[in-house]
Amino acid sequence: MTSRGKFVSGIVPPEVQSDPAWWFVFQESKLLVYQKSDSITIPFLVKPDELSLIITSRNYLGHLNSRHCYAAEVAEGTSPPAGMAFEGLRQVYGRLEDDLFWIAARAVQIIDWDRTHQFCGRCGVPLRPRTAERAKECPQCGLLHFPRLAPAIIVLVERGNQLLLARSRHFMPGMYSVLAGFVEPGESLEEAVVREVKEEVGIEIKDIKYFGSQPWPFPHSLMIGFTATYAGGEIALDDKEIEDAGWYTAEKLPRLPGRISIARKLIDGFLAKQGKLHED
Ligand SMILES: [Zn+2]
Repeated sequence: MTSRGKFVSGIVPPEVQSDPAWWFVFQESKLLVYQKSDSITIPFLVKPDELSLIITSRNYLGHLNSRHCYAAEVAEGTSPPAGMAFEGLRQVYGRLEDDLFWIAARAVQIIDWDRTHQFCGRCGVPLRPRTAERAKECPQCGLLHFPRLAPAIIVLVERGNQLLLARSRHFMPGMYSVLAGFVEPGESLEEAVVREVKEEVGIEIKDIKYFGSQPWPFPHSLMIGFTATYAGGEIALDDKEIEDAGWYTAEKLPRLPGRISIARKLIDGFLAKQGKLHED
């Protein structure tokens, strides 16, 4: 779905970092950026010490077009250097170069995992990093701890020239989107699609087709997109989750999710198929 430039993932950093590298410096989930008028960028330095920041953890990420990339964390309450700011990833999208944005999305998840997986969940001793894969190992019991990744399905259901849009209770005012939900243990992606649609709006679907996928770092999901066709039933809302749902045509659409999301790509795909791509 998203361009990855020439990013190659890696775990073990070079022995000596003598060339400038991209530094994805986070405070909690906020990225340190240089502010310009309409675009932003991130530090490209040999060492983050040049910014006089105290780094509390660092993880090697790999390289982008032969430039090394690091995720680093600074303590809560650290002030940004002059001309810089800590910004949430959603605010950064569209202003930071796309390749760097998606590496930042990776970086924030690795930092969060590193921060929250310091000790073995079974025996409580400090974990040590593995070098052959992105994982930590318990030196006492051998239990492996991998970065957390929660798979979630997202599905656009169509009925003739209409698509199903729904409003979740936590959406911004007026915004509608396609249905989504987490995959349960033991379930296939297709089963999760059928179950979510049935649970949330009470209808039956058919012709489930894979659309594409997208990492979603809020905080650690992988969105797996599908399209499907209406097969029967009346809309009946699960009102714990869904506030409203209905069939919409390209001519009359509510407020849609931003272009960062696979939800929007699904909707744009449907509109493009009808020759009615929505521009805003
Ligand atoms: Zn253990």
